Amino acid sequence: MKTPAQQIPPVHRFTSDPVIAAYDVLLGHGRVRSCVQAVLDAMRQRALEGTAVADFSTLRDTVLVQLSQAHGQSLIPVINGTGILLHTNFGRAPLAEAALTAARELGRGYSNLEFNLSEGKRGSRYDRVSDQLSELTRAQATLVVNNCAAAVLLVLDTFARGREVVVSRGQLIEIGGGFRLPDVLRKSGATLVEVGTTNKTYASDYRAAVNVNTALLLRTHPSNYRIGGFTAEVPSVELAALAKEMSVLAFEDLGSGALVDLAQFGLPHEPTVAEEIAAGIDLVAFSGDKLLGGPQSGIIAGRADLIALLKLNPLLRALRVDKLTLAALSSTLGLYLDSDRLNEIPFFALLQTTVEELRKRARALVSQLPARSPVLVCDTEAASGGGTLPLTRIPSAGIAISPQDFTVAELALRLRNRRPPVIGRIEDQTMVIDLRCLRPDEDAVLAHALSCTL
Ligand SMILES: *Cc1c(COP(=O)(O)O)cnc(C)c1O
Repeated sequence: MKTPAQQIPPVHRFTSDPVIAAYDVLLGHGRVRSCVQAVLDAMRQRALEGTAVADFSTLRDTVLVQLSQAHGQSLIPVINGTGILLHTNFGRAPLAEAALTAARELGRGYSNLEFNLSEGKRGSRYDRVSDQLSELTRAQATLVVNNCAAAVLLVLDTFARGREVVVSRGQLIEIGGGFRLPDVLRKSGATLVEVGTTNKTYASDYRAAVNVNTALLLRTHPSNYRIGGFTAEVPSVELAALAKEMSVLAFEDLGSGALVDLAQFGLPHEPTVAEEIAAGIDLVAFSGDKLLGGPQSGIIAGRADLIALLKLNPLLRALRVDKLTLAALSSTLGLYLDSDRLNEIPFFALLQTTVEELRKRARALVSQLPARSPVLVCDTEAASGGGTLPLTRIPSAGIAISPQDFTVAELALRLRNRRPPVIGRIEDQTMVIDLRCLRPDEDAVLAHALSCTL
């Protein structure tokens, strides 16, 4: 007669199970083995306390749930059915094929990252994309760092440490994820001088605040909110002129950073980097993975003498951008410079899919599901997201699911537990999956997930 502990199947029965062993490549055999061991140890403990030992198949199910959860903790692709194109939780902009190829080609071997090929000696990584960026922004010089928050920190640390920075009360932004302008200013050792009111700030407010200790006038783009009604802000061209007149710098945290006029994609016009440079702003900071549609990065464009000073700041070393990002960024910028290829940037391609096309895909998807599935084609509204164009709704289409035998929260959980996970929006008692952010080849994956889940 076996003791309860002896009835527990051996570890190798689990680790040699093909479904369990499939996790070896995802998590590593050692991790899979310790997961099995943990489940069996827990069972052994409970058996000693008098619980009957579960059979192999039950224990195997427990192991599989844990492995799937462990896999979900690692970085994996998800199907973004939220309709939010630049969702920060989902990694913002998807990258163009060309950008991925470039990162792969560059990453698999050595590169001239910090080597000047014409002189045969040390070079600068920051030179690798500077010509492209200058062409696109019309700025004298540019610098790429880890993200826009780093770009703002570097500018403030370089030019405003121990000095004053004048900001309009209507522009004291919080972007989310811990980026609050007053906090970044404090961290850089600058003193914030607020001027104007929440809804109205005039040039005279800035003028009255400037003194010998003022380093710069900071203009921020109200990325993720809009102040409506009776409002006034000082336009960039006026702010730039005022800064020049008072011998201080004009710095703009443009955030979303459009490089082209978004009106061509049916979106409202967003100030482009080139427009702000043309307005006379000395330095403009923006993100690489928002409206630009590239990898996470922060770009500073502006006066060459100021960019040269930024390069001398030791802080730059801690904020520097890596080679894979530079490869992907350079390749994405290349698509802008070859205007026929702008649609290769997924953000623009996804924006341009017509609602009729999305409805058609939604109908095709529903037709693949078992008859009487509680799934309907519906019109939806997508959004740009990622702290850009907060008021803009993008007409879109998708599917609405009203599960009959369980709650919509349970459906959401089941879909998140799929691999790849599917994330949608819950509206009332319905789950909406917007097709705007799905590549057409993801429709079949979604259809399969739904037929397994409903
Ligand atoms: C998004 C944003 C930031 C932060 O950019 P990251 O690239 O996420 O660091 C800063 N300022 C503004 C105005 C933004 O919109």
